[in-house]
Amino acid sequence: MPDVRVSGLTKRYGEVVAVDAIDLEIAPGEFFTMLGPSGSGKTTTLRMIAGFEIPDEGTIELAGEDVSRLPPYDRPVNTVFQDYALFPHMTVQQNVEYGLMVKRVPKGERRKRAEEALEMVRLAGYGERKPSQLSGGQRQRVALARAIVNRPRVLLLDEPLGALDLKLRQQMQVELKSIQREVGITFVYVTHDQEEALTMSDRIAVFNQGRVEQVGPPAAVYEHPQSEFIAGFVGVSNVIARDGRRYTVRPEKIRLVENGSEPEPGWHVEPGVVQDVQYVGAFTRYHVALDRGGELQVLAQNLAEGSSQVLEAKGRRLRVQWRPEQESVIDESEGGSE
Ligand code: ADP
Ligand code: MG
Repeated sequence: MPDVRVSGLTKRYGEVVAVDAIDLEIAPGEFFTMLGPSGSGKTTTLRMIAGFEIPDEGTIELAGEDVSRLPPYDRPVNTVFQDYALFPHMTVQQNVEYGLMVKRVPKGERRKRAEEALEMVRLAGYGERKPSQLSGGQRQRVALARAIVNRPRVLLLDEPLGALDLKLRQQMQVELKSIQREVGITFVYVTHDQEEALTMSDRIAVFNQGRVEQVGPPAAVYEHPQSEFIAGFVGVSNVIARDGRRYTVRPEKIRLVENGSEPEPGWHVEPGVVQDVQYVGAFTRYHVALDRGGELQVLAQNLAEGSSQVLEAKGRRLRVQWRPEQESVIDESEGGSE
């Protein structure tokens, strides 16, 4: 039985269909991410699961129970927001205990559970500090502890790392994922950041204009996007038109071959000209204009070359090649070239 089942979920705000007949099933213990651009309906979906918004149509089941008409406090879920919402005048310990105090959990147990939760988020010994004495990443972990101390069945997280800078965010991605594995709680995680979704999730649902366009494990979504929107949003859109169909192939799957050298047997080969070269340190990005129209981005690791050498490729005629199984057909439109 799924932990979360959402069927035909719809929410309108006047003319705007914020969430448009969404179906989702999330398994117990899964790290499930809702990924999509701003305005695609992620937060509204999360808020309906939490009970902060009432759906216009559809149902929400948590562990098999229809909770669609239950208020938030009667649902086995907790939410972690981007802005932490910690009480500044309380200590870390008091912040984490707060929800248990409201539920009248006795003091001794409260203290013990809060300490356990702080240990889980690697903040043992920080209980007496005030939120202002913590870093951004530590504050976010207090917010997490405050949610898991309630032992929810499902934890809902709306862009919880959005306020952190890149390095800290990447660190917290790894930590959040390992905390989730340890506590075993189902995570429903909202982000607009494709890298975050790809690194942390067991499965990703890609949102576009209130609809879910694809659901699958990170590698499936990245390597076999089912629509041109997904190809462009989760990675770089490399679209090729051939035989009246449209295909994508990811930039790192494509190899550059000098004219005159033998292409790999069985690979798909296209002649073209290097329009532009960007040296990015670990790799180089090439923009290749194909002879029969369209442009492809190609990523090549800088295994040996110095920057001056790779930049010399600009203007060169060459061929690009890839294995046919690394193409994905995009079904939403046909024909035409880029
Ligand atoms: P996301 O979280 O993916 O950025 P949201 O779920 O917040 O998207 O918003 C989806 C759409 O619904 C947007 O067009 C947004 O403007 C609209 N919307 C969300 N909340 C409200 C609201 N309370 N009133 C009116 N429109 C809203
Ligand atoms: Mg949002």
